[in-house]
Amino acid sequence: MNGKVILVSAGPGDGGLLTLRGKQALERAEVVVYDRLVGAEVMEMIPDSAEKINVGKTSGHHPIPQHEINRILCEQAQKGKSVVRLKGGDSYLFGRGGEECEELIAHGIDFEVVPGVTSAIAAPAYAGIPVTHRDCASSVHIITGHKKKDGVLHLDYEALVRVGGTLVFLMSVTSAPEILNGLMDAGMSGDMPAAMVENGTRPQQKKLISTVAQLAEDRQGIKSPAILIVGRVCALPEQLDWYSRRPLRGVRIAVTRPKERAGTLTARLRELGAEVISYPCIRTERIAPNPELTAVLYDLSAYQWLVLTSPAGADALFDALFECGLDARALAQLKIAVIGAGTAKQLRKYGICADFMPETYDSTHLAAGLCLLAREGERMLLLRAEEASMELTAALNAGGIAYDDIPLYRTIYRSENSEELEERLEDGTVDYVTFTSASTVKAFAASLPGTDFSSVTGVCIGRQTEAEAKQYGIHTILAKNADLTSMIEAIQEDRKNGTA
Ligand code: SAH
Repeated sequence: MNGKVILVSAGPGDGGLLTLRGKQALERAEVVVYDRLVGAEVMEMIPDSAEKINVGKTSGHHPIPQHEINRILCEQAQKGKSVVRLKGGDSYLFGRGGEECEELIAHGIDFEVVPGVTSAIAAPAYAGIPVTHRDCASSVHIITGHKKKDGVLHLDYEALVRVGGTLVFLMSVTSAPEILNGLMDAGMSGDMPAAMVENGTRPQQKKLISTVAQLAEDRQGIKSPAILIVGRVCALPEQLDWYSRRPLRGVRIAVTRPKERAGTLTARLRELGAEVISYPCIRTERIAPNPELTAVLYDLSAYQWLVLTSPAGADALFDALFECGLDARALAQLKIAVIGAGTAKQLRKYGICADFMPETYDSTHLAAGLCLLAREGERMLLLRAEEASMELTAALNAGGIAYDDIPLYRTIYRSENSEELEERLEDGTVDYVTFTSASTVKAFAASLPGTDFSSVTGVCIGRQTEAEAKQYGIHTILAKNADLTSMIEAIQEDRKNGTA
């Protein structure tokens, strides 16, 4: 049975400009075939479970030809997958979306199209330029500046000048001088306002306001993706540019929290205009196969207690149980101790309430409690990280308690984008790194061995975190109160003082 292809328009870059329908489709995707122009924020919304296929084209050369993209889409759908074809801006506006759908029709594959926000309208809007305005433009024309194979732009300049509307040229970085000359030759005044917006709606957005006569010269340094806008709307008052006024505009911040918990901090920093680089430098990986664990799970009769020391441990335990064809009932005879509220909460999701949790959530207090509660001859099963601390076992040894300690998972200090971050730290293109605990500092440093941290400022939630960061030679600033709001305030304060 064939799957389905949903053509999703990703919008111009800002993650908030993806449509709700598009997000829903992404969340359910099994395969995502994406382009170069899809923004980083939208890419982050692709579920980890989905296979990602990059068919991005770079300007000038086409690494993956269109017929090959068509073939990939058909092949994936014919495997029965739900496929999202993700394209920048609106997929039917200079996006070859129509061609791809024709190919799907030819193969009898079901498809849907999710329209989106186009850069042609959104990039000007984020640069303070409404594409129409009652006082100065009653139409808007969206035109490609891409040259055909013969190297010639086939544009009817007379017609464009005669209509008198706002002209928006996509794919026009190289051809801008030719376009502007063409317009002037067709009678447009050299004083007509014109603008370019590079990386519109993204934190790196750049804009240039000029005139038709002057822009070709002024535009040095503007790179693709960028659009060219010609018309009186480009000279509307500067106050319309709300985007450039955001307080953290141009500030580059790496957020070290794991993906699931980074949401609020990331969203708030982005709202203030910062470029956020998600850097979840720590993740856990279940040890599998794990024959020692499997043997124990099939026969738990040797134990009276089960001890879990992290939410990740609870997840790993249940994954292992389910894999063995077992469930929570396998634990029915055991008393269960957890290190803290996080682990207790995670266990409840599997229908289990812990029997013991220490008042202070650490190994010392857990061990002290267990030593008090354990009866003569009882044996404990500790299911923990491979690299778990010796504190717990040392205290149980001291208390004369029998136990087995079986590793369930290991912690990995590396992220998909570690290499990218390493390069950026070395080039000095990261201004801040946020640290919400001493352990995230450790994980950050462990994920980037040998990297020089001298160019970056660590934004620390508290004193302990700060002390840890200093150990790695990271320059630090400290939040007044130990919360996310204070961390954001500390960054703003630091910008004002101009130290970063
Ligand atoms: N379907 C897309 C356009 C694809 S053509 C859309 O609706 O936006 C590619 C061109 O789009 C680029 O050469 C550039 O001119 C423009 N573009 C895409 N994203 C952009 C962005 N964030 N800022 C400025 N221009 C962008």
